[in-house]
Amino acid sequence: MVTSSTQTDLDVRFPDLVLRWFRDHGRKDLPWQQDPTPYRVWISEVMLQQTQVATVIPYYERFMNSFADVHALAAAHIDDVLHHWSGLGYYARARNLHKAASIICDDYGGKFPGDFDSVIALPGIGRSTAGAILALSRGEQCAILDGNVKRVLARFYAVDGWPGKMSVAKKLWDFSEQNTPANNVAAYTQAMMDLGATVCTRTRPVCCDCPLAKHCQAHILKRETDFPGKREKRAKPRKEIYMLLIHSDGAIYLERRPPAGIWGGLWSLPEVESFDEITDWCEKTLQVRQFNIEKREEMRHSFTHFDLDIRPVVVQLGNGARAVADTEDRIWYELDSPRQIGIAAPVTELIHKSALD
Ligand code: SF4
Repeated sequence: MVTSSTQTDLDVRFPDLVLRWFRDHGRKDLPWQQDPTPYRVWISEVMLQQTQVATVIPYYERFMNSFADVHALAAAHIDDVLHHWSGLGYYARARNLHKAASIICDDYGGKFPGDFDSVIALPGIGRSTAGAILALSRGEQCAILDGNVKRVLARFYAVDGWPGKMSVAKKLWDFSEQNTPANNVAAYTQAMMDLGATVCTRTRPVCCDCPLAKHCQAHILKRETDFPGKREKRAKPRKEIYMLLIHSDGAIYLERRPPAGIWGGLWSLPEVESFDEITDWCEKTLQVRQFNIEKREEMRHSFTHFDLDIRPVVVQLGNGARAVADTEDRIWYELDSPRQIGIAAPVTELIHKSALD
């Protein structure tokens, strides 16, 4: 850690150094920087929570074309919102956006709340996202601590420890608050995010291009990538499931997943735990007796907390064998004219592969 006297000296200069760098090198043409209303910034910040800028841009543009304001989002069907999110992952984000849009319309007359406490009380908005929305759209002096900012601050002040630990996070929040200026907050906030994303990158920081290099403790110590500290490694648990690709008359049978848990609220393939259960499942659920079953190549999908080994099985029903009709929670998904619904990317991949067989 830097000493307190040096720290005071640096704290005065830190935002100036960052802002000066931003004038020449910061990103100023991102779609959500044009007309940065709280709604537009909110959507971008939520999309950017787990996803990189380049991936987010086309999703953001499609989302804004369909849901131009909070009223349009609140009025949309959740299937349509999840459809726009399909492929971005972490689907709770989309469900929370939809819920929060209804709250904003019902409780705030469609106007994004103006004070920090009301913003942070909305579903899916944490301290850093609330700060970013208010700083970027309204120029309020709110600190943020997203992944990029954590990295810059942890390196600059050589803060030991994993930022997921409360004591480490607290130090980083303190530094973030101390450095957030009263003026030019929007530019400073964007500058910190840009600096972390483009210069102080995770594995190869480009310190020679960094405005903070002269005072950065990690750089001075030549220990840039030691900060921020890593979480203790634990072996990821692994789960196995059989996913059923049930074909009939050019359609695949899909079920809506429960709202909580992985891929919550999205449409997916039915699952069973063992191969032996498949025949019984088909007979009971689909009320069919004649069908062919074939295994397909296994695929692994990694979630943050576990790996999922998916064993796909194609179940081919005879023509005219759709004994069960569509309901709110199960549909026959027509492959030639697919409905606009939310489907997780690995499930889409399995459907496409099996349609090509
Ligand atoms: S000097 Fe290097 S390690 Fe330090 S903040 Fe800049 S890019 Fe990151």
